Amino acid sequence: MTDTNFSQARRNWIAGSSAAYALAAAGGLSRSASAADDHKGHGKGVAAIMVDAGREGVCATCRYWGGTRRVAEDKKSVYAESLGWCNNSESPHFLSMRQPEAGPMKMWRKWEALS
Ligand code: SF4
Repeated sequence: MTDTNFSQARRNWIAGSSAAYALAAAGGLSRSASAADDHKGHGKGVAAIMVDAGREGVCATCRYWGGTRRVAEDKKSVYAESLGWCNNSESPHFLSMRQPEAGPMKMWRKWEALS
């Protein structure tokens, strides 16, 4: 093999390898995207529930709860449909995921939206 032929063969091999790496990388991205899709539901995990707005001591009516919820127009109920972080630094459950009906607990404070 001449130097010219060797160089050409080397360039072809590198080009082929680059394509293979690009495909592998694309495959990795594809798998990552799938994995990300699998995580889309995190934070959910509970069926939508209705909690009496007057219920004290549970996360769904607590000002520190970070779950998905809304107050009924008459303010008599809270509709909650996810797990939620406890954002009360005084609570033993601080920074943990809590069910809407978790409790009762002393560190509960009434959610302002219910006043
Ligand atoms: S764990 Fe306690 S303080 Fe934290 S959100 Fe639930 S009721 Fe509130």
